[in-house]
Amino acid sequence: MADQKGTKAIQSSKAMFGSRTDVGCVRDHNEDSLVVAPPLFVVADGMGGHAAGEVASEIAVDTIAKLAPKTPDTEALGKAVIAANYAVINAAQEKGRHGMGTTMTAAILDKERLAIAQVGDSRAYLLHQGHMQQLTRDHSLMADMIEAGEITPEEARVHPQRSVITRALGTDPNMQPDLYEINVTAGDRLLLCSDGLTSMLEDFEIQQTLEETRDPQKAATLLVNQAIAAGGFDNVTVIVVDIAGNSAKQLAKTRRHSVAWGIFVVLLLIAVVVGICYGSYRYVSNLAYLHDDNGQVAVYQGIRGNFFGHDLSHLDSVTDVNTDDLQPGTASHLREDGIRADNLDEAYSLVDQYRDYVDQNNAEQEAREQSAREAQEARNQNSNGSSNQNGTSSNSSSSNSSSSNSTSGSNGSSTTQNSQSGSSSSSGTSTNTNSTSNSAGSSNSQSAQSSSTTGNGATR
Ligand code: CA
Repeated sequence: MADQKGTKAIQSSKAMFGSRTDVGCVRDHNEDSLVVAPPLFVVADGMGGHAAGEVASEIAVDTIAKLAPKTPDTEALGKAVIAANYAVINAAQEKGRHGMGTTMTAAILDKERLAIAQVGDSRAYLLHQGHMQQLTRDHSLMADMIEAGEITPEEARVHPQRSVITRALGTDPNMQPDLYEINVTAGDRLLLCSDGLTSMLEDFEIQQTLEETRDPQKAATLLVNQAIAAGGFDNVTVIVVDIAGNSAKQLAKTRRHSVAWGIFVVLLLIAVVVGICYGSYRYVSNLAYLHDDNGQVAVYQGIRGNFFGHDLSHLDSVTDVNTDDLQPGTASHLREDGIRADNLDEAYSLVDQYRDYVDQNNAEQEAREQSAREAQEARNQNSNGSSNQNGTSSNSSSSNSSSSNSTSGSNGSSTTQNSQSGSSSSSGTSTNTNSTSNSAGSSNSQSAQSSSTTGNGATR
């Protein structure tokens, strides 16, 4: 059943399009022709009877395949269609096939730009994000009547004049195609077809097949088969084109940029983390703390603890400061959590303070002990002094008596001396001193006074 006659196709390494044409179940020959030569895609539906339509569509697609632009240039595409119109007219005149003609729906697709030239009732549809839109307007009596509100699309499908077209190639030298310039996006699907498809299938059925059939060639084949299954009253031609467009390339480019950006961000994060770790390590390394080490104050660099088994500090030195010599609170801290410092200098400064404290404490302790010793000595001296004083007094009395006796014995003026002596005796020590001074011949003031007394005594 398949009839690829009139197909002008160029194979592509990527299956981005598919096509199918079929004579159908009623006609005895296929008057449809098509071109699948990216970026050009054309469907032509010939008419005229006695194979004239077949010739017309073939002449039309041959002409446009030669003259169509390589880019979506609607003006150039329009000129190519006009040239095809002249070619069909000329052929009709030369071959005597007056009245033969053909429709033409020609599309040029380049990335995300689509140019379409339209004559007759073949159609272009675009499936975009789940919505199928008819891009072209039919040049047909039914289309005019629907637009005029005279009939509904449903009535048009069964109208006896449903095949009458109002514009075609091969009949009017002044024919002008409708031109469309459309922006499409990657993922869109373009459908070109002859009325053998749209007269057999409702739009929603066509859309469903386009959406459900991923492969464009399978979609084209399936649509033709569905039209045949629905009756196949006419020749059926279908071209399905998947649009990659700029978006696919842009997407790939964006992905590459995203990957590059992702790598950059990851590297940046690594750098930041490494920087933070290094900064933290430097900070921690500079920290210091004091801790008791077997009764001595020790200086450590770093912080207490470990990171994944790695000690975060090391012993810098054990000092000569005894922990026990420090204030109890300080000593307690040193034995338990330690005492932190911003750096080693500060740690050793603390040690110096502790050492000063200890020295001062020792000095005060020594002073107190010295004071206690002196006090004890003083007490001892006082104790001894008191004992001696009592003994002297006793001896003095004896001496006094002896002195008196002696004086009395030496002077011979015993009455005066005795009287003096008796007067002196009443004042105790003074008398003793006089007596001692006299006997010792001392020159101190006390002695002088004594001498004076003696002198007085002598004067008297
Ligand atoms: Ca047809």
